[in-house]
Amino acid sequence: MFVSDCLGVNDQGHLTIGGCDTLKLAETFGTPLYVMDEEQIRRNCRQYRASIETCYQGRGLALYASKAFSCKEICRIVREEGLGLDVVSGGELYTAIQAGFPAERIHFHGNNKTPQELEMALDAGVGRFVVDNDTEMECLDRLAGQKGKVAGIALRIKPGVEAHTHECIQTGQNDSKFGFTLENGEAFAAIRAVQDAPNLCLKELHSHIGSQIFEVEPFLLATEKILGLMTRAKRELGMDIPELNLGGGFGIQYVPADQPVPIGAYMEKISQVIAEKCREWGLDTPYIYMEPGRSIVGQAGITLYRVGSVKTTPAQDKETGDTTRTYVSVDGGMTDNPRYALYQSEYTVVAAQRAADPAAERVTIAGRCCESGDLIQKNILLQKVSPGDVLAVLSTGAYNYSMASNYNRIPRPAVVMVRNGQPRIVVQRESYEDLIRNDI
Ligand SMILES: *Cc1c(COP(=O)(O)O)cnc(C)c1O
Repeated sequence: MFVSDCLGVNDQGHLTIGGCDTLKLAETFGTPLYVMDEEQIRRNCRQYRASIETCYQGRGLALYASKAFSCKEICRIVREEGLGLDVVSGGELYTAIQAGFPAERIHFHGNNKTPQELEMALDAGVGRFVVDNDTEMECLDRLAGQKGKVAGIALRIKPGVEAHTHECIQTGQNDSKFGFTLENGEAFAAIRAVQDAPNLCLKELHSHIGSQIFEVEPFLLATEKILGLMTRAKRELGMDIPELNLGGGFGIQYVPADQPVPIGAYMEKISQVIAEKCREWGLDTPYIYMEPGRSIVGQAGITLYRVGSVKTTPAQDKETGDTTRTYVSVDGGMTDNPRYALYQSEYTVVAAQRAADPAAERVTIAGRCCESGDLIQKNILLQKVSPGDVLAVLSTGAYNYSMASNYNRIPRPAVVMVRNGQPRIVVQRESYEDLIRNDI
C-alpha cells in the first residue's frame, strides 16, 4: 500500500516505520523529524552486493554515494555492509574519516575540488580521485609528487547520453559541467595526458549519466561508449585500464507511478553488455564499480511534521480548475526538503494517525519559510487533517537532510534511525545556540 517495505499501519491505524509508531516518534523526538529504517538500508546494500556476486562473479564493488545522506552513522552502516563510499567534498570526506571509514575504499568526486581538498584526500589515502578536468589533473599530479605519492585516478567521462530525467539532474550529456567530453576527443586526450603525469596512475573510467532514472537503456549505451574508449586507449596507446565505473542514478519510488528497475535485472543486462563488448573488442572484462546513493537510503526514510494551520483561500488553479486552495502548513518546509522548490519533485504524503484511511480532499502542503515557492507538495489528495495532526512525507531518506539549510534561521531537524522497533538519534536536532555558533 505504501511506497516502502519498512512502512506499515498498526492496530490504532497509525503509520509505522521499522516497527515504530510514527506518532510516538513525533512525540518523543519532536517535529520536524527525519526517521530512517536501518534494516531497509542494510537490505538495499546487500542487494547491490548480491547482484554483483550473481551477475558479475563478485568482481565489483558498490560505493554508496554519500551526498544522498551523509553522517557518521550511515558511514558506519555502509562500512559494516562491505560497500565502498563516494564523497564529493572535504566535508563528506571528513565525515567518513571521522566515522572510521577505510580510506582506500573511498572515491573522491567533484568538478571543482580545491587544492586543499586534494591535499586532504592525499593525506587520508583515498583510493580513487575521480578527475574532472585538466586543471585538476595537473594540480593533483603536482601535489601527489610533493608528497611522494602516486594517486590512483579515474577519469570522469561524459558519454553523450541523455537519460530521461529532470534536466537539473542530467549529467551524461555533452553540455554538462561534469567531466571530459567523449565525442570531441577531449576524453581520449585526457587519457593520453595521464601518461605524462608521473604521479598519477589511471585505474578507471567513470560515467554517471544522471539521477532518478527508470530505464536501463541509457546505462547500457553509456557502458558501451566507455568500453569503446577503453578499447581505443588499448589499441592506440597500449594502455590497459582495468576498472569501469558505471555511476549511480537508479530511480526509486516516490509515488506509486514510479516503477524502478529491480537492481538484479539491471545488473544482468549490464553484465551481458560488458561481456559481449569485451569479447568483440578484445578487452579483459573490467572490475566494476556502481555508485548508488538515492536507491540505498531514499525509500528507507520519511519526514514527520506537525500541522499548524489549515486554511482555504480563493485560487484559480490551472491544472485542476479549483477555485479555492486549501493550504496545510507544516512546521518544516524547503529548509528540510528543498526538492519540490528545486524541481517540483513528487512525494506521497500520509496523515500519520489515520494512515489506512482513503484520501478525502485535495490540499497543498506548505512550509513555514518566507517564500511562496516553499511547498512540500501541490494539489495532492490527503486524508482529512486538522491543526496538531502529524503528517508523514515518504521516501525522504535521500537528498533531504543532506540538502537542508538554515534559511530563516530554522534549525535542522534531528535524524532518528530505527531498528527492530527501537529508535535512536543519529544526528541531533540543531539548537538556536548552534545557529549563532559562528557569529562574531
Ligand atoms: C550523485 C551521484 C551519484 C549518486 O546518484 P544517485 O542518483 O543518488 O544514485 C553517483 N555518482 C556520482 C558521480 C554522482 O554525482
